[in-house]
Amino acid sequence: MSDFPLYALSEEHQAVRAAVRTVCDAKVAPNAASVDESGQFPQASYDALAAADFAAPHIPEEYGGAGADALATCIVIEEVARACASSSLIPSVNKLGTMPLLLAGSDDLRKRYLAPVAANSGMFSYCLSEPEAGSDAAAMKTRAVRDGDAYVLNGVKRWITNAGVSQYYTVFAVTDPERKQAGISAFVVEKDDAGVSFGAPEKKLGIKGSPTREVYLDDVRVPTDRMIGEENTGFATAMRTLDHTRVTIAAQAVGIAQGALDYALGYARERKQFGRPIADFQGLQFMLADMGMKVEAARQLTYAAAGRSERNDSDLTFFGAAAKCFASDTAMQVTTDAVQVLGGYGYTHDYPAERMMRDAKITQIYEGTNQVQRIVMARQLLQGVQSELRQTAPRRTAPP
Ligand SMILES: Cc1cc2nc3c(=O)[nH]c(=O)nc-3n(C[C@H](O)[C@H](O)[C@H](O)COP(=O)(O)OP(=O)(O)OC[C@H]3O[C@@H](n4cnc5c(N)ncnc54)[C@H](O)[C@@H]3O)c2cc1C
Repeated sequence: MSDFPLYALSEEHQAVRAAVRTVCDAKVAPNAASVDESGQFPQASYDALAAADFAAPHIPEEYGGAGADALATCIVIEEVARACASSSLIPSVNKLGTMPLLLAGSDDLRKRYLAPVAANSGMFSYCLSEPEAGSDAAAMKTRAVRDGDAYVLNGVKRWITNAGVSQYYTVFAVTDPERKQAGISAFVVEKDDAGVSFGAPEKKLGIKGSPTREVYLDDVRVPTDRMIGEENTGFATAMRTLDHTRVTIAAQAVGIAQGALDYALGYARERKQFGRPIADFQGLQFMLADMGMKVEAARQLTYAAAGRSERNDSDLTFFGAAAKCFASDTAMQVTTDAVQVLGGYGYTHDYPAERMMRDAKITQIYEGTNQVQRIVMARQLLQGVQSELRQTAPRRTAPP
């Protein structure tokens, strides 16, 4: 028998969890209610995460980063989300914005743009969605037209997380309108580039501390050496990015759900009705049991997907979609049940359960709605992409 902990986290991964939880308990959780109330970017969380190398932990060591693998990055995001969902958008969107560079960028481009993120002198946002191009992202209208040694970008990007706060933006734009998704390219745009501006922050249901704004591109000249990968390969890069980062949204959802479960358990032990703690009532125990069961199932699927992300396995597309969909549906159920466990108190701003319920909702929507995840999963299944484990099983065929 090997010494490897069978189907368990390594000591290193457990140590990452302990370290990030310490930072979050002390410096992130205390701000969660106030950033939700004020809608301000959680600068104190950013400062604390940056100081401990948790703001963009996935950046490889060769670019000055901490070099966290995909599973360790998920654990960081999960623990931050358990404390404050808005703050968890800091490590997760830094990964989303930089993943196109990691997947397709030249070494020179990576050196120029990953090093400042690793050094915490700027964050990265990801600009795919537009007012008329959400689930159908390939319907984007933002144009990039070659002009000498630059591309000139014009258009509007919508729903961009951390826009205005981030220094760097991965922008997807049409370079060949005849070819639809095969005519889209990816660029690095800087906040200070002439012609870049931002809309007012959206007024949202949840993750209120994470600014979401439109990004306006008005004759923005981007040097050709800031194109990520080859011309017209941007859409493939955008989709491959989401395969990896949907796993991080799953981790965020697991963290939000765990935070709600932890709070509900503590409350159920303390709150007395009929002369006994409400935790004594079997009706409530069954609800708590279901919550715990679902959170653990979501966590296991998320970590299995994280392993596939790290190895870049061929079935990552299925696993990323499945983990994101299952974990976000779980987060919505578990946070709603947490409000129920708290009764009337759960419905007020004086307790965190309703905030967690509002925060959970976005995980079912962004990086592709859960309807889109089911489309992605079905397509993968019908194409015969199966998990590596099941590849050894006898192949099923349709009945005659
Ligand atoms: C807070 C927030 C932050 C975000 N951050 C970013 C970001 O940083 N970068 C970025 O690029 N984008 C971001 N987004 C955009 C997000 O990814 C989109 O909102 C999402 O993909 C859905 O697009 P849509 O809003 O246009 O909805 P639509 O595409 O209009 O969908 C509306 C409804 O129709 C359903 N639907 C659509 N097509 C189908 C279909 N074929 N089959 C079945 N049902 C379908 C959807 O599931 C949904 O229920 C963010 C959004 C929000 C709200």
